[in-house]
Amino acid sequence: MKKLWKNFTYNIRSMRTQVFIILVCVGLIPLVFLFNIISNAYDSQLLSQRKDEIQSYGTVISNLITTSGYLSGHESNEVDSEADEIANVYQGRIMIVDKDLTVVKDTYGLEEGKTIISTEVVKCLNSGPDGNYLNTIGDYQQLTMPIINSSDGEVIGVIIISYSTKSIFNVSKVVTHKLIFILLGIIVCILIFSFIYSIVLTKPLNKITESINDIAKGDMDNKIDIHGYSELVTISDSFNRMIDVIQNQNNSRQEFVSNVSHELKTPLASMKVLSDSLLSQEGMPEEIYREFLVDITTEIERMTQIINDLLSMVKLDKNSAQMIISNISINELLEQLLKRLRPIAAKRNIELIFESFRPVMADVDDVKLSMAFNNLIENAIKYNYDEGWVRVTLNADHKFFYVTVQDSGVGIPEELQNNVFERFYRVDKARSRETGGTGLGLSITRSVILLHRGSIKLYSKEKEGTTFTVRIPLNYIA
Ligand code: ADP
Repeated sequence: MKKLWKNFTYNIRSMRTQVFIILVCVGLIPLVFLFNIISNAYDSQLLSQRKDEIQSYGTVISNLITTSGYLSGHESNEVDSEADEIANVYQGRIMIVDKDLTVVKDTYGLEEGKTIISTEVVKCLNSGPDGNYLNTIGDYQQLTMPIINSSDGEVIGVIIISYSTKSIFNVSKVVTHKLIFILLGIIVCILIFSFIYSIVLTKPLNKITESINDIAKGDMDNKIDIHGYSELVTISDSFNRMIDVIQNQNNSRQEFVSNVSHELKTPLASMKVLSDSLLSQEGMPEEIYREFLVDITTEIERMTQIINDLLSMVKLDKNSAQMIISNISINELLEQLLKRLRPIAAKRNIELIFESFRPVMADVDDVKLSMAFNNLIENAIKYNYDEGWVRVTLNADHKFFYVTVQDSGVGIPEELQNNVFERFYRVDKARSRETGGTGLGLSITRSVILLHRGSIKLYSKEKEGTTFTVRIPLNYIA
């Protein structure tokens, strides 16, 4: 029972039912009104025509009466026969009443000589030449009209003409039946049209629902292809874009997992080779043991580095990254970084230069920003030639501060410049491994800069050097 009710309310609330009901109402209500108006107008038109006819006959009789002196006691066959004929043709009755309210002529022959007291007759006698009165009594209409003396315009009597309206209503009934027939035809057409239209209109929505269900089941290859209403085309386009984004995220997640596994497998494999060869040969000199263990430690350090970078990256994930903002001197931050990196650069005789154009104070997360600039300067040293140089500059305007890290190093080929910010991407894998690179550094740097609502750009020429330009707002925009 509950399920039935649920189904019922679902169907009533469904767009298809509502569109159907609206279309039916919009089509039918005006039609029914129109039908009523047409049939009423037709009836009243017929009645008014009949009244005009009767009135003109009444005028003819009235003229005959005045010219023949019928009301002064003269007999007139013309008046009698005209009255009888008209009464006959219209299945009615004609009474001629004189000024004293005495019925002079009654085509039924029932009231002749009797006095008639009726409001219409009295009113008609007193009201002058235009005093016509029309009453409706069942299927009959009764027209009371004055008889005017043509010489002095005086009302000398009254003609009462009753006539049947049955024939009129019979004609109108036939017409109404035909109209109802046409109306039913139109109603059926409207119902069929509304039904088909409501299905056509909601079909694309069903298609979208099916696609969403397919995606929920994991089938991402399903794209929606909808033509027709522009709103629905927009929905399907947005939907397809959303599928693309989900698919890309899925792919990059898979790629990421496989990259991580691969990166961790390499040091594990070399550790296994090292320890296997130690185990397989007995009585090896202690120096060899030591050498192999040093190698194993190097691999462990590398794994630790990868895991640390991964952890930093997870922390920087846009949704979970918490920014701890404070107003600090960027000059000091860069000077401290360079101080720490100077010994590493010195090992390869690389000159570290810092140029600051002005003191800069900015709202930044100093831990994260240190990590970002550290990666850039470390790379500039790592991918440099011995005896080379690294130049770091700091400048600012009223809105942003700008840091450039320029080196005289190996450079990055133009076609690969867009890729270096991707996770685990390395231009020269062997060199990067040698220098302890994980391929995560620039990706972390870019995330940090984006979290500061800043931007990073790269200019590089192979074998000449690379320049990274960073722009960050002085005031943090949450
Ligand atoms: P890695 O840990 O390998 O250094 P990064 O994400 O920091 O990873 O850098 C990605 C790749 O971009 C590096 O492997 C290197 O090939 C290239 N790269 C980064 N910085 C520089 C630079 N200053 N000069 C030349 N190549 C660079």
